[in-house]
Amino acid sequence: MTAMPTPYSNTNAAPVATIGIALRWAIVALRKTSTTAQLDAETLVMHITGFSRAELVARGPHELSAAQAADLARLVERRATGEPIAYLTHTREFWSLELMVSPSTLIPRPETELLVEQALALIPTDVAWTIADLGTGCGAIALALAKERPRCHVVAIDNVPATLDIVQKNAWRHKLKNIEFLQGSWFEPLAARVNMVVSNPPYIRNDDPHLAWGDVRFEPDYALLGGVDGLDAIRHIVAHAKDYLYPDGILLLEHGYDQGMAVCSLMQHHGYSDIACHQDIACRDRVSVCQGR
Ligand code: GLN
Repeated sequence: MTAMPTPYSNTNAAPVATIGIALRWAIVALRKTSTTAQLDAETLVMHITGFSRAELVARGPHELSAAQAADLARLVERRATGEPIAYLTHTREFWSLELMVSPSTLIPRPETELLVEQALALIPTDVAWTIADLGTGCGAIALALAKERPRCHVVAIDNVPATLDIVQKNAWRHKLKNIEFLQGSWFEPLAARVNMVVSNPPYIRNDDPHLAWGDVRFEPDYALLGGVDGLDAIRHIVAHAKDYLYPDGILLLEHGYDQGMAVCSLMQHHGYSDIACHQDIACRDRVSVCQGR
């Protein structure tokens, strides 16, 4: 990266580049390592300038300050090493909520919106259920459910204090008050039974080759790795959810595309009823659901 010709070679001189030039430079700089170079470059310039995408075009001739140019050069350099865009801008959108993320949290994925959709399909609009989100991370699932079901009470649980700090900030940012935050491992901090348990637990096999590619290289192992067969956390949750659910309570779990059968048979083995597996938009098994009695 350092050898790359850039408009930032003289960062002491201000102004050093226009938005249009900076954008073109960033796209070229990222093409070697990113398949989404244009989108990445636009996102980083938007982050640095605070401009919208439409403003980027309109303000092409607008000059960046030396500090902005230097910040952009640093972020482009980090992106070129593969660091996820969401960790560089500290945000990712999920369920139309702009969420703060950090390297202590998994970056929310679009496929997790399927879990939210399936949960909402099962939660009547007028009930005041208690819903526990285990391993909440940045709170994507918990916050989406709290927003869509304001009468429900959502308990966001995570073992990692730095992560709980992020989900709390996200709740404040979106003015969601029907949510509480508890630190602990899976069900451990729950003091009473709940109507629904949801989770996107770590489910990747420890030796999965896709851990060597893309964003996952930078995400925390504790949010990704599920043991030799990827099912360690899921086994624990399925084995214990019944002790924390009301008899007709519902368990919903996200899992890997090739784990649907295994998760559903675990649910069967533990005596749950109404077991079903749902596919994501790529038609791959992604979310399994069952009832506690
Ligand atoms: N869906 C993520 C991936 O495959 C993994 C998320 C998880 O382990 N909970 O990259």
